[in-house]
Amino acid sequence: MKDPYAINADLHCHSTVSDGTLLPHDVAARAHAGGVTVWSLTDHDEVGGQAQARAAAESLGMRYVPGVEISVTWAGQTVHIVGLQIDPFCPELIDGLAETRNGRARRARDMGDALAAVGIAGAYEGALRYVGNPDMISRTHFARWLVEEGRCATIGDVFSKYLSEGRPGYVGHRWAKLADAVGWIRAAGGIAVIAHPGRYAYTDTQHDALFDEFTQLGGGAVEVVTGSHTPDQYHRYATVARHYGLLASRGSDFHGPGEGRVELGALPPLPSTVTPVWRDW
Ligand code: AMP
Ligand code: MN
Ligand code: MN
Ligand code: MN
Repeated sequence: MKDPYAINADLHCHSTVSDGTLLPHDVAARAHAGGVTVWSLTDHDEVGGQAQARAAAESLGMRYVPGVEISVTWAGQTVHIVGLQIDPFCPELIDGLAETRNGRARRARDMGDALAAVGIAGAYEGALRYVGNPDMISRTHFARWLVEEGRCATIGDVFSKYLSEGRPGYVGHRWAKLADAVGWIRAAGGIAVIAHPGRYAYTDTQHDALFDEFTQLGGGAVEVVTGSHTPDQYHRYATVARHYGLLASRGSDFHGPGEGRVELGALPPLPSTVTPVWRDW
């Protein structure tokens, strides 16, 4: 059997089905070109791209892992929970995701109003031009429009200036409950993974409580090597994975060419101190 640490697995990325800029089969081609051999498309709150992703991956000779990234509100902040090896036809999962997407359209109109109040008119209509799936309008679509309008140089700048919590275009939203998201993933036969934990602004106590609750709910893994972590955070979350008995995942969180994050398949391997989530697949 091949050394699992040497397998180029990329288990987190997005297509036009959520807030990515490429169609699922184009993301597959790019993953393949980047040397990925085990691949998952994990669109936000939606499994509509899974059939195309699987067909494209298999025609390129990659191992396909059905996936999703669920938006959750925990202790007043947004946490993302990736589900891997899910059955995308599971009714409990499909209904839960539909419920989670509910309210995005309303929130987007409120974001448009909030931006208009600071002198930026037409943002909702502008963001809609970037949306592939109207149910899945997200802050990223607003960010792309604001960059195109010349309001900011990069998407990252838009988030710092307008769209992060506390900034003028931010509109709070209540996403799924952690227990529900983990429950839907498990009902669909999948494994739940805490996405990019280094991004959450929790206190140490909250951080530990999140991991305690997640493991008690039957969550199984944590992203250790992700495009959202620094190398120091790879080590920090390798330690956290071991402490909580969680498997480790790896994923670029690629959204599109030239969007500043890491390329598909280009991250370093997992540290040898953790167990890859794909070890027994
Ligand atoms: P939403 O689900 O509408 O709240 O949008 C969340 C998405 O915004 C994430 O999945 C990221 O793609 C993007 N995002 C959040 N924060 C940042 C940031 N600081 N820089 C770039 N993209 C971000
Ligand atoms: Mn995103
Ligand atoms: Mn995320
Ligand atoms: Mn993501």
